[in-house]
Amino acid sequence: MSKSACHHATEQIYFYLDGEMTYVRRLRIRWHLRRCGHCCGAFDFEERVKQMVRTKSQTEPSAELIQRLHTLIREEAGDDPER
Ligand SMILES: [Zn+2]
Repeated sequence: MSKSACHHATEQIYFYLDGEMTYVRRLRIRWHLRRCGHCCGAFDFEERVKQMVRTKSQTEPSAELIQRLHTLIREEAGDDPER
């Protein structure tokens, strides 16, 4: 699995989880996540956190939290530019 595909998939996770993606796009992301163990961990992590936040506050996570998650997921996906 190419790194750019992973990057694309992780970028789309937010839209996927927020239900803003089209059906076809969802299928493509899900297909990628199934084949790619790289993204899968990040996806599960993101989903867990978002569910937790929603259950607690009944609102969308703050932009700051999203940004922090984004950084974490990029590190998890091995997409750290520092490396
Ligand atoms: Zn991937």
